[in-house]
Formats: sequence, C-alpha cells, structure tokens
Amino acid sequence: MSLSAELFQRAQHTIPGGVNSPVRAFKSVGGTPVFIDRADGAYLFDVDGKRYIDYIGSWGPMLLGHNHPAIRNAVIEAAAKGLSFGAPCPAEVTMAELVSKLVPSMEMVRMVSSGTEATMSAIRLARGYTGRNTIVKFEGCYHGHADSLLVKAGSGALTLGVPNSPGVPADFAKYTLTSEFNNLPQLEQLFAEHGNDIACIIVEPVAGNMNCIPPAEGFLQGLRQLCDQYGAVLIFDEVMTGFRVALGGAQAVYNVKPDLTTLGKIIGGGMPVGAFGGKREIMQHIAPLGPVYQAGTLSGNPIAMAAGLAALTEISKPGVYQALTEKTTFLISNLKAVADKHGVPLATNQVGGMFGFFFTGEATVTNFAQATQCNIDAFKRFFHLMLQQGIYLAPSAYEAGFLSLAHTNDDLAQTIAAAEHGFKQL
Ligand code: PMP
Repeated sequence: MSLSAELFQRAQHTIPGGVNSPVRAFKSVGGTPVFIDRADGAYLFDVDGKRYIDYIGSWGPMLLGHNHPAIRNAVIEAAAKGLSFGAPCPAEVTMAELVSKLVPSMEMVRMVSSGTEATMSAIRLARGYTGRNTIVKFEGCYHGHADSLLVKAGSGALTLGVPNSPGVPADFAKYTLTSEFNNLPQLEQLFAEHGNDIACIIVEPVAGNMNCIPPAEGFLQGLRQLCDQYGAVLIFDEVMTGFRVALGGAQAVYNVKPDLTTLGKIIGGGMPVGAFGGKREIMQHIAPLGPVYQAGTLSGNPIAMAAGLAALTEISKPGVYQALTEKTTFLISNLKAVADKHGVPLATNQVGGMFGFFFTGEATVTNFAQATQCNIDAFKRFFHLMLQQGIYLAPSAYEAGFLSLAHTNDDLAQTIAAAEHGFKQL
C-alpha cells in the first residue's frame, strides 16, 4: 500500500472524509487522494516520492510557483519577530495601501483570514448599508460557505451534489435569489419583481467554480447598470480572479467598477488571507467606524501580511501577466489541438492565468447548465490518466485550472504529451 493510501485510511478515522476541505477527497473522480510532502516551483512531491506538475497551485494562490524565495524569506523574517500580536502592525497599513493602489475601486480595505470570511462580511456590509435583506447570486458561482451563499453554489458544493446544504435554515436561504450566469434578461426580470428589496448582487466576474466561464460581453456592465438603477451594491468576488486574470483583477480586464470587492488566495501568497473593500462611503459602515460588526483575532496577522506583501510586490513587476497569459494560452490551445487530432470533443476557456476545459461537443460553454451537461465520465478517466503520468489537475470537472510563472516550456510540453496519451486512451 502506498503511503498516501495508508494516510488516507488513517485520516478517515479522525477527519470527516479524511480531508479538511471536501474536493480534496477525490470523491467526484474516485480513487485515493495523494498526500503532499512538499512543493517547489511548478511541482508537488507526494509522500511516496512522486513528482507532479501542478495545475491547482493551492487552488490559486501560487501564481509565482510554490515555495517562492521572496515569499519564503519574508515569512521567515516576520516569524522571527513574533507570530501574532492582536494589535495593529505596520504591514497591515502597507497592505491596505498597496491593495488600494492595485485595485483602485477598493478605497478602503479590511483584512480577514479566508475568502469565506471576506464574502460573508461583504454581504453583511451590503445588507447593513442598504437596510435590505435579499441578495442575488448566480447558479454555479461559489463564494465560500457562509449560510446565505450555499444556495445553488459551485465548487465542492456542486461536485458533491449538495447545492442546498442541510444546516442552512430555509428562512435564511429565502433571502438568496439565484439567476443564471450570463443571462441578463433573466436578471432584469428578477430586479423588476424584487429590485427594491435587493441589497446586493455578488458575482464571480469570471466564474471559476463551475469550471472556468468568462462573462459574456455586456454581462458585467448590465449588473452595474441594474445595481445603479435599484440602489443595490455590486460585489465582485475576486477571491479567485484577483491578481490572477490581471494585476487589477477582472474589474480591470472588463472595465467595470464594483462597489465592493472580495479578495483571497494570491493576496496571502499561500498564507490564510482574505480581504474585502470598496467605496469609502460604504466601508465607513464597518465597525469600529460604523455599526456593521466584523472582526477577527488573526486578521492582519503579521506573517500573513508579510507573505502577501512579498507576493504582491513580485507580481507587480513588469511582464508578469503577459508571461502568465502566454503560457496559459500555449497550454490550452495545444490541449485543444491534440484533442481535435484524436477526435475528442473538447471546449476550452481562458482568461489570463486561469483556464478550463470541457468534454463537450459544444463550441463554447457559457453557463452552469452547459457546464453540468459535459461528459463527466470522460473527465474522470482523463484525470486519472494524467495523474498517473505525473500531471496534477483539479480532481473535479467543476474547477478552474491555474498556471504559475514557474511552469517552464518543458513542463507545458510534458503536459501536452501526457494529454495526447490520455486523449488517445479515451
Ligand atoms: N470566493 C471564490 C470565488 C472562491 O473561489 C472561493 C474558494 N475557492 C471562496 C470565495 C472561498 O474562499 P476560502 O476557501 O478561502 O474560504
């Protein structure tokens, strides 16, 4: 038995499902998850000594590659001064200033410790600010696991078939209206009926939790317009897209300014960090300045701030996003080419360093219904064929893929060759 299999068996006795976050359990693809010993650059090394080219990147944060020296050294330096103060520290100020500079719509910023906390807090703020209860989200978008957001959610909630989780009171879920991603007429109808009760729209500006689905032309602009018309707050959940699709996030790519933005992943350089921020007028409603309560013992933690600042400093250097986008385009266009060559129907999506591929005969995939109609069995077989060859893809057909700057041309060529072998087997 492999060490991973042994660990998984052991883990299941004391950890529900053997994992601390559901998608890691390989439940939707079958088989035993690999346990990781260490990571470096584009690679993960499992406890059995096998190396994988990694296309998850810790689900997004590892844009610079694993174990980047600048981030590692920043963490070591900060750790030498203490792990947590529970009092303000200088790095928090620098972080807020830097985020505000890179994402100008975030005039004020509050740090938290996860993406879930960021979206949960932004929703409370939007409700507190507008005095309204109802929120709007889109089918297949995942915004973390706060109660009101576990309605028609993506990612693990989709993979595991619990779109409405037990434990979320119906009285709570009734305040969450859902609409189809990329379907503006449906949303307009929703606003025509409920517009005056709607506190906010929350959206992944590029959906990354039902595989990768970019916004249709005019969709995000339409959200902005509806929010303006009905006095609702527009929240871009850029936990995944922030510093991933461009330095200024999806809002810079599509040129739409949200009222609030949530961030996570890259902003912590691999440490547990999230943030929310936006218009000064709205952010001033947060405690202690305003009445909307929000807090965190470890918020603005000095080690997390040091890691995040080092990551943001590195990715602010010229050429980063061009290189990342070029690498991703090279990978995804070649995946498509080898699939075509072997008669495997495949559709692909890409925005910057974020990509998705779908086993479908459709030319494009633009919404949740289409994403869930893809050939999941083909994905499962492909996933395992790739894993055997040392290519680590997300263990679910409903997750986006992520590249890093550490992926070399040789890594990409190896991946394409492995995919060709995989497509042939399908
Ligand atoms: N929002 C989005 C768009 C996400 O992709 C995620 C996590 N993948 C979250 C929120 C929740 O973040 P976390 O897992 O850090 O709580």
